[in-house]
Amino acid sequence: PAPPRPTTPADHAAGPLDVLGVPDLVNLDYAATAPCARVAADAVAELLPWYGSVHRGAGSLSQRSTLAYERARQTIGDFLGTRAEDEVIFTRNTTDALNLLARAVPAGTTVVTFGGEHHANLLPWPNTVRLPVPDSPDAAIRGLAEALRELRRDSDRAAPILVAVTGASNVTGERWPVEELAAMAHRHGARIAVDAAQLAPHAPVDIAASGIDYVAVSGHKLYAPFGAGVLAGRADWLDAAAPYLLGGGATVGVGSATHDVRWATGPARHEAGTPNLFGAVALAAVCTALDEADRAELHTREQELLARLRTGLDALPDVVELRTFGADAPRVGIVSFVVGGRDSADVATELARRHGIGLRDGLFCAHPLARRLLTEAAGRSGRTDLPPTALRASIGLGSTTDHVDRLLDALADLG
Ligand code: PMP
Repeated sequence: PAPPRPTTPADHAAGPLDVLGVPDLVNLDYAATAPCARVAADAVAELLPWYGSVHRGAGSLSQRSTLAYERARQTIGDFLGTRAEDEVIFTRNTTDALNLLARAVPAGTTVVTFGGEHHANLLPWPNTVRLPVPDSPDAAIRGLAEALRELRRDSDRAAPILVAVTGASNVTGERWPVEELAAMAHRHGARIAVDAAQLAPHAPVDIAASGIDYVAVSGHKLYAPFGAGVLAGRADWLDAAAPYLLGGGATVGVGSATHDVRWATGPARHEAGTPNLFGAVALAAVCTALDEADRAELHTREQELLARLRTGLDALPDVVELRTFGADAPRVGIVSFVVGGRDSADVATELARRHGIGLRDGLFCAHPLARRLLTEAAGRSGRTDLPPTALRASIGLGSTTDHVDRLLDALADLG
């Protein structure tokens, strides 16, 4: 195999948001799991000698750990723009956060979602109305309006409705019109939950300013190590719901009779068990660094790389991009595509083995959407030789022009 060219350190984001990684490998799989930001690694390293049980001890290590955990909660809440009526619950990841919310919605809630969602925002919901994948942001708003009008016609005005949508698609990177969908939901007395797993790493998420009721994120897509996610949003449903996990920390008192349990309210209600202090602290450190960074500049840089990638892909005669909303729709740094006449898993393997390039192949845990977009891509390109699964390249803070060019060169030179 050809030796990989070294990346150019000058291309990397400097300072706290620099990411750790293996210089010889081209990581184009940020949407699956982003590399760890230096600031997250530093926050963990600083705490390692000091840690002790969170919420469960009078010793100074325990006290310090409890303080660090609760400060992390506050920092992440501020980063996400939470209101006084919101709470921030630590979970394992976005999947866990959305499952928690699915258990916490009041009995009889109808959940309205679109077929374009990641499985994590498709499968946990009880009593779901699944709307067809729209072909534009405007069609999404119109589709939701119609569905809500119909639901309100058929049900009583006070019946709870939750709209669950993604902020940015993990398949196409396309951004969804979250603020407009939130306004539409509220007009019909519904709430909205946004799966921000892919949005938050690329753009500020401000739930108060956007009128979002609930938001879910994953730390491992936000430059922190694995194991921490967050559900943030209105406390009333969460405090009224049965605890998500049952055990120590979620109670304020347990009597000797089996059912004599008084459950806590607030985040503790759903966070039984010893929490993931390092995940919380690492994620909070990234949130602080992102808040202090020039996000407009990070956005511009990412959009330039994304444009370079998409223009380069477009110039390859056998490559067809997957998209829902059209070529010019706003996106985060994610592109899915197929190579006509080539099996996507074989291409991914060749890119890894010959060129040290890591990207994702498959249907990206969004089977209904990916299948639909593959059919659409075949129709648009007129090609009959497109494979049944796709490839996805995704970029972020450590991505460089060299990474993009190496992928484009490798695709031009498939064996
Ligand atoms: N939603 C979206 C849009 C995602 O991209 C992902 C991860 N691929 C998830 C939810 C689930 O995230 P996690 O695996 O961290 O729970």
